[in-house]
Amino acid sequence: MGKYTGPVCRLCRTEGTKLFLKGRRCLTDKCAIERRNQPPGSMGKRRAFKKSNYKIQLREKQKVKRFYGVGEKQFRLFFDKASKTKGITGDNLLTSLELRFDNIVYRMNLAASRVQARQMIKHGHYTINGKKVTIPSYIVNQDDEITLKEKSLKNEKIAENIRNAKGLVEVPEWLIVDDDKFVGKLNSLPTREDVSVEVEEHLIVELYSK
Ligand code: SF4
Repeated sequence: MGKYTGPVCRLCRTEGTKLFLKGRRCLTDKCAIERRNQPPGSMGKRRAFKKSNYKIQLREKQKVKRFYGVGEKQFRLFFDKASKTKGITGDNLLTSLELRFDNIVYRMNLAASRVQARQMIKHGHYTINGKKVTIPSYIVNQDDEITLKEKSLKNEKIAENIRNAKGLVEVPEWLIVDDDKFVGKLNSLPTREDVSVEVEEHLIVELYSK
């Protein structure tokens, strides 16, 4: 299946939860979930009552994929790695997704959404340990230092993005950010409790274990 290019609020309505795909708008009463939390389409209400176990498991997976903006193939790789790592597979899966470069840029308030973080990373606006990294799926290590390039702030569009992102989300305790220098790093590794998407990850494990 190709990449979804339709209205992103529709994705939130399909999953029945906020996926925070539109930056500041997601925190206002203009958010489609705040206004009308029901699946899109005229059959939306009816569809909500017709769910098999498989569909429920599938929706949990889709929700997490869309929340982090990860495609099926890459999500499966994350899952496979999580299942081979010591500990609880569902926890491993979510905490490894939290360590994606684009997620961390967003949670550091250096982009207004994960979607924007991905775009800005691809355009080379951030460095890791002083080196330009343009891979949104890069897994950030504990000692990595993420910086918004000073030069990027001279671009009016980027400066506006950063102004919009400032203070947007509460920076989690597992990250340390110097707001003035636009620099951040990990304070510790994230745990399951640090994951903000509401998900029953055991359903994803069950889905992939079939
Ligand atoms: Fe749209 Fe954001 Fe609300 Fe989702 S959370 S419905 S993307 S405004």
